[in-house]
Amino acid sequence: MDVTSVDEVLLCADPRRWRPGDSWLAGGTVTFSYGTDITRGAPTRLLDITGAGWPPLVWHHEDDGTVSLEIAATCRIAELRALAVEAEPGGMPRSSLPGLDLIAPACDAFVASWKIWNVSTVGGNVATALPAGPMISLLSGWDAVALVRRRDGSLRRTPVAELILGPARTRLGDGELIRGFHVPAASLRERPAFRRISLTERGRSAALLIGRRISDTALRLTVTASTVHPVVLDVMSEPHARGGTRTVRADGSAWRVAIDRAVSRTGGWYDDIHGSPAWRRAMTHRLGDEILAELLPGIATGVDAARGRTTGDLRMERSTR
Ligand SMILES: Cc1cc2nc3c(=O)[nH]c(=O)nc-3n(C[C@H](O)[C@H](O)[C@H](O)COP(=O)(O)OP(=O)(O)OC[C@H]3O[C@@H](n4cnc5c(N)ncnc54)[C@H](O)[C@@H]3O)c2cc1C
Repeated sequence: MDVTSVDEVLLCADPRRWRPGDSWLAGGTVTFSYGTDITRGAPTRLLDITGAGWPPLVWHHEDDGTVSLEIAATCRIAELRALAVEAEPGGMPRSSLPGLDLIAPACDAFVASWKIWNVSTVGGNVATALPAGPMISLLSGWDAVALVRRRDGSLRRTPVAELILGPARTRLGDGELIRGFHVPAASLRERPAFRRISLTERGRSAALLIGRRISDTALRLTVTASTVHPVVLDVMSEPHARGGTRTVRADGSAWRVAIDRAVSRTGGWYDDIHGSPAWRRAMTHRLGDEILAELLPGIATGVDAARGRTTGDLRMERSTR
């Protein structure tokens, strides 16, 4: 579709050249399918960042022998998907990075063909801020931090889970450009769990939950798609005050009460054609129970019915047992 408001398209990834009426252009799969920029209105110029030459995936070797990952905003979904099957990502045995097991189901959660996968970008998915944005789910589930270039050229860092405010709304200021995302080493080493459900098979995500076992007695649970923005809870055998993240007892009814409270503070469960709020709530409870049972066996209480159960149409294949 033509974007009829546009007078000029230029190759530019420099926020210092931003003018009112500009929009960043990455893969264009949102901008050209809606015929406008759904996050800030009809643009008069498009600044195409795809020629910036940023390497899509960069491994950082940490002092303790672990690796963390930097994903460029311009990394295509197909490039990220390919990482899931690399034999030695970052020079490490694949089995030492079970967090990468989340990539395949997250990419598969895109209701899109390979044509879309080959042009749409990780940064474009985050900046669009749709509740069913699978890259938002993945990056939030990994505790990834967005690296954002301000208009004066300086860099700020914001957790992806906090960057998203609601459908098509982010904390990105006018002219701010996502340069990339940093995925901490710990998130790649920790055992993950993945659940998602849609009203139709391979339809748009109605609830997508990612868990990570962050210690022997605790997991971090990230709820997306059924909520207007990511909601992150720490579920543990002995809850306590812990930074900005809410901590919850590892018990089925306790975590369900906690997610209901958290969601009511954000204006309620997401409501659109892909699922009613009541159904999304019921599915979120069900999928979350399954993740508690899977990642904290013998510790989580009140989730017996969920043991060994996998609801939803996408499965995560484990690289380690
Ligand atoms: C058939 C089809 C199915 C789809 N399925 C899904 C789905 O299931 N879930 C979903 O979430 N989306 C879906 N989409 C929408 C879209 O493909 C994705 O959100 C995609 O990842 C957007 O990336 P892009 O690079 O094409 O973004 P663009 O269209 O280039 O840009 C989208 C928005 O992001 C801004 N932007 C892009 N890059 C940056 C950056 N680095 N910094 C700041 N702002 C930036 C742009 O200015 C614009 O506002 C689908 C689209 C199609 C056509």
